[in-house]
This record gives sequence, C-alpha cells and structure tokens, in this order.
Amino acid sequence: MRRAASVDLPTSGCTNMDPSPSPLFPLFADLRGRTVLVVGGGPVARRKTEALLAAGARVRVGAPRLIAELAALAGAGTIEHRDGDFAEGWLDDAWLAIAATDDAAINTAVAAAGEARRILVNVVDDAEASSFHVPARIERGPLQIAISSGGGAPMLARHLRERFETQVDEAFGALAALLTRERERIRARYPGLRERRRFFERVLEGPLLQRLRQGKALAAGRIFDAALAASSSKAAHGSVVLVGAGPGDPGLLTLRGLRALNEADVILHDRLVSAEVLALARRDAEFIEVGKQANQHHVTQDRIHALMLQHARAGKRVVRLKGGDPFVFGRGGEELEFLRAHGIAYEVVPGITAALACAAYAGVPLTHRAHAQSVRFLTAHAADAPDPQSLDTLDWRSLAAERQTLAVYMGVGGLDALRERLVAHGRSPATPFALIENGSRPNQRVIVGTLGDLPERAREHAVQSPALLILGEVAALAAELHWFGALPLSASRLARAA
Ligand code: SAH
Repeated sequence: MRRAASVDLPTSGCTNMDPSPSPLFPLFADLRGRTVLVVGGGPVARRKTEALLAAGARVRVGAPRLIAELAALAGAGTIEHRDGDFAEGWLDDAWLAIAATDDAAINTAVAAAGEARRILVNVVDDAEASSFHVPARIERGPLQIAISSGGGAPMLARHLRERFETQVDEAFGALAALLTRERERIRARYPGLRERRRFFERVLEGPLLQRLRQGKALAAGRIFDAALAASSSKAAHGSVVLVGAGPGDPGLLTLRGLRALNEADVILHDRLVSAEVLALARRDAEFIEVGKQANQHHVTQDRIHALMLQHARAGKRVVRLKGGDPFVFGRGGEELEFLRAHGIAYEVVPGITAALACAAYAGVPLTHRAHAQSVRFLTAHAADAPDPQSLDTLDWRSLAAERQTLAVYMGVGGLDALRERLVAHGRSPATPFALIENGSRPNQRVIVGTLGDLPERAREHAVQSPALLILGEVAALAAELHWFGALPLSASRLARAA
C-alpha cells in the first residue's frame, strides 16, 4: 500500500498539492503478452511481478541483485532479468513500468525516462512521481473492484477495501464466472439492451447468488436456465414507482427507493429532491425535472401525468421521485388514481417525510410523555394557495389544543394568519416553536422562539422554502437536544448575551 503522497514530499510549502486535482482516469489494462518493466529486485518488486504475471504480462525485471524467488523465476525463464543499474534501454518495447527500488534517485530516473518515451510509470510509494497508480482491489474470479483515493488517502482506500472484502463474498466470483461463460447465450436470447438489462436484474435479484453461496452449482445452473428461458413479456410493460426521496440527506433514502432508482429508465423528480439523492440513481436514466411553480399547479400536474403515461406506455420503468414521502402533501394519491385509471402498474416506496426528518435533525421529539401526546401534520400555504380562505377549512379549535404538536408544511408564507387563528382559538402566545429550514441538509437552519413573535422571527432571519414549522411544547427541547448543523438561532443569541 502506498503512503500518502505528502509523506514523501518536502515539508517546505505544498506547491505540488493542487487543492482540487483532476481525478485519475480509471482503467483495467489488458497486459497479456505485453512487456512490463519492473525496476528493483526485492520483495516489493516480487509482489508487483507476481501480480503482473497473473495478468499475463511479459515481465522484465531489472536489478543488480534479485531475491531468491525472483531469481528462481528468472532461472525458469518465466521472467526476463536485466542485470545492473537502471538503463533507459530496459524500457524498450515496454508498455508500462514499475519503479520498485528503495533508491529515490533511481525511481525518479525511471519515471523521467518513462515520461520521455510516453510509457506510464508507477513509482511505488510515491503518488506524485507516478503517472499511473495501482489501486487497492478486491478480486472475485473475473470480477475486480478497484479503489483509489488518487494517492491522497491510501488508508481510506484500504479501509474501504476491507469493507468490500467482507461484503462481496466469493459467491460473486462464481457468479461473474457463470455470467462470463453464458455471455453468448444471453446475448442471443436478449439481443435488445433493455430486455437484457431486465433479464440481469431478474437473475441478480433471484436466488442464484444464494445457491452459489451454498456451493450448489447444479441448482444455480437450473435457476439460470429457467431465467433465460422465461418469457420477458411481463417485463416489457412499463410501470411507475412512486418513490419518497426523503428530505435531502441521501442517507435517509430507503434501500427499496435506492433499488428503484437503480432500475429506472426515466426519473421524474421534483425540485425538492436533493442533488445528492439524484446522484445515487442510474447514470444513464433519463432525468426530467418536473418542479412545480406556485400558481401553475394544475397545468404542471397534468403534464406530470402525461409524462408518466407516455413513458410507461413506451415500456419504460418510470420512477416518480418526490421530496419526503409521496403520500404526505405530495399529490401521490392523485397520481395513483390517474395511473390506475389508465391501467398502468404502480408501486409506492415511502420516504421520510419532512416533519419526521426536521424533528429528528433539530432534536425535537414530536411526542413526549411530559409535553405532547399527539402530533398533527398540516399545511398552511395561504400565500400560494389558489383559495386564500383555505386556512378557514381547518378546525382551529382542535388545532389550538395544548399538549399536542403541530407540524406545518409550506408554512413560510402563512405565519401571520397561523398565529392569529391559533391565538384566537386559545393557544398561548408563549407556546414554543422551531422553524426548520433545509432540514437534514448541510445548510440546515433552526430558528426557535414562541408563537407570539413567530412571523417576526421568520422575517428577521429571512426564512426561505423549504421550511417546516414545529409548534408545541416539545419545540423548546431543540435548545438542549440539537445535534446537527448550526446551533438553533435563538440559542446562539443567548450564548452571545451571556
Ligand atoms: N412530500 C413532502 C412534502 C411536500 S410539501 C414530504 O413528505 O416531506 C413541501 C413542503 O415540505 C415544504 O414547503 C416544506 O414545508 C416541507 N419540506 C420538505 N423538505 C423539507 C426540508 N428539507 N426541510 C424543511 N422543510 C421541508
């Protein structure tokens, strides 16, 4: 394992350390029959030589002395040995070179000579001097997982390798070997890319891997044959999966949601869905943002319906990706009604709704034996509602009851009206609130205070959408229980005053 490049650099200044270097280009090289020069005759050179031989390379080892194992390989004619100090001619016909001596001057000379001849050189333990890196890797038969930190954090790459080592067991090697053997049959049966991909998903999600894990090769073969023979007509029909993307932190996406994103052909996503969640989706899916602007709800909702229908009817797997949970102020119900009416198959994957996420990330338990026995989710979008009287349809008397928590969605514009009605119906102006903007995201802000000055506080801090209001006795707990992101805003103030 290489050490961090900085370890090898002079400590005066860091001129070589570009703060945002371009990433390395990963590649798996076919070295069969190709000459690779290894400079050095010690244990490191031996390790590199063995790895190169395993890849079918013709290995030329140059060094004045070879350890016994290398000498034996040279004696058997498995490798070519060049005796003496490094000479440029050793690079003749080479495609790659590895400098594995413990003499920095020689390693540098190899790197320079390689550069002049456009031969990529890896200098062991010196990321800066290397024009190619050898990644940390996990091998399972023909399957290889290579990990690189770009030379900057090799210990991190090693750590990840250890994690994968335990997660990707030997059965994956057997699976990769099986799929490699059957490649032609699979292609013949499913010439189209989309059908082929679906076949693979069926096979990979089924019991095949489990049989291989149990060492039941025969049973595995039968499962594979059955999957190959199975009709793909069902798969040819499109479908829609309504997926809740959660509030922003990609860690809050469900595993099922992640799988749907990985299988999607088309992803229709809201503006609220974070870039981090979208980054987890299949790269070659078609992404369509269907963010709804205020005042255009109906037009755009029809358009969303039309897009779902169009793509599902074209046989694609559509993911309708929504912020939070699709069934909490997300119009998920309307979309399912539409799909059902048009005979399109659908599934729903719940998500962590904003109220749950904001409460958790602000340290506000929504219920608490001492403070609140119930919680209610409501929306008070007076500002952008088509009907400004919509607040009046709510049962304010019951909403104003004590010892309950209100989680108010889309509330930024309607806070004055909200305070007025709650106080008019008996809720104390001293009731604590926590207003959470960008909950669970790196830029989360929490503003705390009491109902009496709620709208003023929100204006003072210029709270923007998306923000969620938690109102009730429990909100006071944010001051003590907060753990994520910036301090609650009134707490930092008190701290300054103290
Ligand atoms: N289906 C979504 C809600 C959509 S309505 C869900 O289950 O969460 C949009 C409202 O949700 C926003 O106006 C805001 O009140 C709230 N919201 C969504 N994501 C949020 C976040 N990360 N932080 C704070 N509020 C959020």
